[in-house]
Amino acid sequence: MNITHDFHVHTVISSCGKESATVENYMRIAKDVGLTKIGFADHMWDSAIEGASRWYAPQDYEHVAQIKSEIEKYKDSATKIYFGCEGEYDYPHRGVAMTEETAEKFDFILIPHSHTHITMPKDYYEPYQKCIDFMVQAYEDIINSNVSRYITSMAHPFMACKSPYDNRILMPLIPDDTYRRLFSKTAEKGIALEIQTPCFARDLEPDAVAGQHTLIRIYSMAKEEGCKFTFGSDAHNTLAYPHIEIANKVADLLNLKEDDLAPIVR
Ligand SMILES: [Zn+2]
Ligand SMILES: [Zn+2]
Repeated sequence: MNITHDFHVHTVISSCGKESATVENYMRIAKDVGLTKIGFADHMWDSAIEGASRWYAPQDYEHVAQIKSEIEKYKDSATKIYFGCEGEYDYPHRGVAMTEETAEKFDFILIPHSHTHITMPKDYYEPYQKCIDFMVQAYEDIINSNVSRYITSMAHPFMACKSPYDNRILMPLIPDDTYRRLFSKTAEKGIALEIQTPCFARDLEPDAVAGQHTLIRIYSMAKEEGCKFTFGSDAHNTLAYPHIEIANKVADLLNLKEDDLAPIVR
């Protein structure tokens, strides 16, 4: 099937967003590649939740909401725009760094359980099991949090961000039982899983075809457990944009149908 959405796009509003990452530039790309829906998801830590790091503190609701005036300019565009955010796991409180009141203001919300470079103590990267345990715990805390019903999709699942080793080392070490338990609960809660296209950019072929690709295998289990999916590029600039091409390949490998996508991205 053809994937025509991207629900994980950062703009210059995110501290890590590059200069080119303007709504205007993204909308030009959206038109060129035929996106029917685009979801802007800048990083956000709700100021009502204490504990924001120095990096997160300025990136609160008011900050990310600045994009709304930009979005307004494109209300008649063929590409429908969604106002979202990439929130954060709140490790000290074992929840999500967002109140329900703030969550209600977004069209969609992504929450990562795998921002290990931000939320996990650095010495948990090794032994590998410690990092795995952290991600599993974070995953459970997020889907059991008070804002779980507002969460659209779990961002980049099990991809330990900026790990000092290839984060795919960890994935096969997690038992299938654990994946299935988490995924069936995710499906039950109506939370989708994000398929992040850059994670496939390196080596989609040829092992994927043989059904041996780790990520394809994990997402297949999620599909079997009833999870829905959203696709995201996690773009921080607009210079290269292979999103659609990869998304379509992955959708075919997973044999996804319209019904397998989260309702908001269909
Ligand atoms: Zn992220
Ligand atoms: Zn992101």
